[in-house]
Amino acid sequence: MMSIILEQHTSAPTIDVIDSVDNWIIVSSNKTKKNFSYKEKIISRYKQISQDEKCGIPVSIDLPNKHSSHVSFTMLSSSNTSFDLLSLSRKLISLHSESRPKEIGVFVAGFSKKESERIIEAIISAILAVCAKMPNFKSKKQSKIPLSKIILCGFKANHRFRKSFAIAEGNALTRSLSMMPSNKLTPTHYLKKIKEIAKENKWKLEFYSESTLRQKKAGAFLAVSQGSPTADSGIVRLRYKPKRASKTKKIFLVGKGICYDTGGTNLKPANYMFGMHEDMQGSAVALGTLLALTKLNYNRPVECWMALAMNHIGPKAYKPNDIVTASDGTTIEVVHTDAEGRMVLADTLVLASKEKPSLIIDYATLTGACMYSIGTSYSGIFTNVNKWHPNLIKAGEDSGERVWPFPLDEDFDQMIKSDIADIKQCSQESGVDHILASRFLQRFVKNDVPWIHMDLSSSNRKGGLGHIPTNTTGFGVRYTVDLLLKNYLK
Ligand SMILES: [Zn+2]
Repeated sequence: MMSIILEQHTSAPTIDVIDSVDNWIIVSSNKTKKNFSYKEKIISRYKQISQDEKCGIPVSIDLPNKHSSHVSFTMLSSSNTSFDLLSLSRKLISLHSESRPKEIGVFVAGFSKKESERIIEAIISAILAVCAKMPNFKSKKQSKIPLSKIILCGFKANHRFRKSFAIAEGNALTRSLSMMPSNKLTPTHYLKKIKEIAKENKWKLEFYSESTLRQKKAGAFLAVSQGSPTADSGIVRLRYKPKRASKTKKIFLVGKGICYDTGGTNLKPANYMFGMHEDMQGSAVALGTLLALTKLNYNRPVECWMALAMNHIGPKAYKPNDIVTASDGTTIEVVHTDAEGRMVLADTLVLASKEKPSLIIDYATLTGACMYSIGTSYSGIFTNVNKWHPNLIKAGEDSGERVWPFPLDEDFDQMIKSDIADIKQCSQESGVDHILASRFLQRFVKNDVPWIHMDLSSSNRKGGLGHIPTNTTGFGVRYTVDLLLKNYLK
């Protein structure tokens, strides 16, 4: 996928240049007086089709030249949210899916330099997202757009949109892993795949197997993994070190990696079980983010902790009313076996926070309650550093992967108070399970480590989200890379 080359030309495309490329994405400001090749033709056709030049509807136009160059075009005002630009860019590239171009021209006319860069960035991200290779088990394969070159005209950036390419690669890894069916991606397969990627990227890899976790008395994790017929569950720990040795403290990315979630003894009904091979997406977001940061030679050390397991039914599976003890000694009363994500994360967070990183971000497809609260176009965010709320929202607005914070006040704990153990795993009644799950997790973050938890309600959205064309979104990679690189958490 990343064999796609970006060619940059400072000057706007002449008629000869336009004629020499068969496919173009062109975006013009609705205020511009500036001329560009074929402007009159394009705009009159646009007005004919869209009826309203302000509405930003992308239209398809074939130019009256030798190859009938195929243009997807729209007009925009100069104030667009990042989310809108990404969504629009996806529509623009989708108008080329039938012609399956090998190269595509991009030209943005009439905006300030800063705004042009934002629009181009969104277009490049959408092109890379649609070209990413996803799992396909059809016996007759039809490949995606076989694009090998983006020809950018009228704009040149020294950074060559390196960040967009790195994020696209991280996101593609997250999505492709998440789409793998659970008979093709068991914890065993997943670990093998992670080992390959770790080798390519020179990450140090450590695996806490079930026997290691038994030594560490990680009873919350093991309660979930004990239902598996294969003892292949465990916690993967990956370490990225920047080339230039740095004394700055580490950042830890933690992810839920349930390769299939049947619900366990509290078996899910059919409709809710379908798609549960994606219950490992949190771990894949952590991994995809680590990959993007590595490609960008990020200047701080980062570790990725992935909790890999399956939530099975069976005679050995854990049950409601079981009491288990996490590795920090906390006793947990099991209430519902489908709340397995917080169980495997509890021990993972204890082990990770014992290392005293400067920040932990965890990702999990954790609760239905989060989806009921904000739908699937946003993800929920929680933190033990309240003052970060405005900047966490801002990072979402700027990156186009939008999040919204929820409260984590101590009194929510009353709803998970247990008569027989230190804490209940969840409440039998509550509709605020996303908050209770976060309160539960927070308890296992030791040493006052600043912590952010992302409940991935937008991990799967029918029809895609923003620039992402597949239902599986890989949400979180783009957000986190921006959050860290642009220093929102000062
Ligand atoms: Zn579950």
